[in-house]
Amino acid sequence: MGKNKPGVPPETSDPGFAAGKTAAMPGITHPERYSEDDDRDLSLRPQNLAEFLGQASMKENLSVFIAAARKRNESLDHLFLIGPPGLGKTTLAQVVAHELGADFKVTSAPALDKPKDLAGILTMISEKTVFFIDEIHRLKPAIEEMLYIAMEDYELDWIIGQGPSARTIRLPIPPFTLVGATTKAGNVSSPLIGRFGITCRFSFYELSDMEAILRRSAGILRVSIDDDAASLLAASSRGTPRVANRLLRRMRDFAQIRGPAAGGTAVTRSVVEEGLSRLEIDSLGLERHDREILRIIIERYNGGPVGAETLAISAGEAVDTLEDYYEPYLIQSGLLQRTPRGRMVTALAYEHLKLPRKDHENPGFLF
Ligand code: ADP
Repeated sequence: MGKNKPGVPPETSDPGFAAGKTAAMPGITHPERYSEDDDRDLSLRPQNLAEFLGQASMKENLSVFIAAARKRNESLDHLFLIGPPGLGKTTLAQVVAHELGADFKVTSAPALDKPKDLAGILTMISEKTVFFIDEIHRLKPAIEEMLYIAMEDYELDWIIGQGPSARTIRLPIPPFTLVGATTKAGNVSSPLIGRFGITCRFSFYELSDMEAILRRSAGILRVSIDDDAASLLAASSRGTPRVANRLLRRMRDFAQIRGPAAGGTAVTRSVVEEGLSRLEIDSLGLERHDREILRIIIERYNGGPVGAETLAISAGEAVDTLEDYYEPYLIQSGLLQRTPRGRMVTALAYEHLKLPRKDHENPGFLF
């Protein structure tokens, strides 16, 4: 382990490099929001459907539903957004509010601790507000129940008084659109899912969409990016706009350290190649820890199958982190498979890591 292999960046960082401190950041390509940095460039967030790139069929349907709701002068039906982190669920909710000409209110399920937290929001909203709840799979049961009635009847059940004299009254609230987002649709109860009229499933973005997103962001950040640099960065961004924007900002740092080009900061192919190698990100967008997970399966478990819990312990990660942040992209890239017997690497993983296959030791291999 740790040997430099062609095509795979070295497993050590170079502290001597001027901008090397960025390499110390944990999981730069991991799509969860890990720093304020992501939210600093709010200007990068698309404001309307035209600026929201990719996810073409989802967008097309949504634009019909939005236009129809506007025509009827009604609130849009409740919207359920499913997809890995960083693909644009919050952004889309905001875009929908903008397109509807409605207010936007945002919270996340863990922030709604008591029914009064939800009631406090829903009694204060204006008509047609788009109310976004992130991580909706983490709602507490009491809040979820309250939400059922709010979503269906635009009313809240409110208990006044205590003990035997307590009684429930129904408070009307303005018609609104709930946008519930989750990375784990399997953990959302069916009564809640059943109350959403529209479901949008996000998929990882196509390379051409990622390039377009990078070009748009570069324009807003006032850096120039050439075609080679854009396609290289797009390929290393895990099909995830948040990762693309984060990498672009780091490439801007590398470009600035190199000194300004004639027309300002220029992100070129050589800046990206050098930058990605400094950050130990390879041609598929994998970081050291992703490669480590694949290596563990290959070297300790003969390529798998290995159960998620065992693998998580071996990799020093929580099972949730492994399942939510590492696996989706490894699976999407064709490097890992989830089978009923556990996780298995594919032939591509051996090829990518340049590790020999020991098929004779594992006759159950799928290839
Ligand atoms: P999620 O809520 O799914 O975790 P976000 O909506 O916060 O993801 O998106 C992360 C960032 O990626 C946003 O700040 C935005 O700049 C960018 N982004 C997301 N989707 C798109 C898109 N379709 N086009 C352009 N930029 C996008």
